[in-house]
Amino acid sequence: MEEIDYNSDKFINAKAEMDRLVEESLKTRTVKPNVLFGKLSELTKATSSKAIEWSRQNSLWPMQFGLACCAIELMDFGSPRIDAERKGYLLFRGTPRQCDVMIVAGWVTKSVIPEIKRLYEQMAKPRYVVAYGECATCGGPWWESYNIIRGIDQVLPVDVFVAGCPPRPENLFGALMKLQKKLGGEIED
Ligand code: SF4
Repeated sequence: MEEIDYNSDKFINAKAEMDRLVEESLKTRTVKPNVLFGKLSELTKATSSKAIEWSRQNSLWPMQFGLACCAIELMDFGSPRIDAERKGYLLFRGTPRQCDVMIVAGWVTKSVIPEIKRLYEQMAKPRYVVAYGECATCGGPWWESYNIIRGIDQVLPVDVFVAGCPPRPENLFGALMKLQKKLGGEIED
């Protein structure tokens, strides 16, 4: 075995030396592929992917997030009258990390775009966006305003658009059903 001189220059930078040792050990290491393990892994992936797809489709987690008056309709969507949970649109979550659906409810000012983008980036993947109401879809009554953009699709990829000013909560229910169908491959983008 090679004698190591701990006083040599190469130990001045311990990290570089550690990297060199790891690289050398990887060169000499031979790993035999475990055929049985590979087959088992493929089988698990094939059988569980359908279950994962089904559960993803039937447990959409919307974010607790509203921008303007459409957010009032969004609150109504969470009421017992609509009973959104019967279709798997579960509780609105207070953190983007536990959500996969962003419902953009209200007009989008230019100043708020960085915050919306940040929330979107923090959401779990795969993530979806619903443009809820005229303002989020095309700017609504403010489409000529200097500080409001003409639709959230200028910033984020939108999966479903909901018309109306204000839009009905029932329409949001329909939009989420559409999103579910899209996830299940029943309708095209
Ligand atoms: S679409 Fe109508 S109700 Fe919704 S935020 Fe715009 S102005 Fe308000």
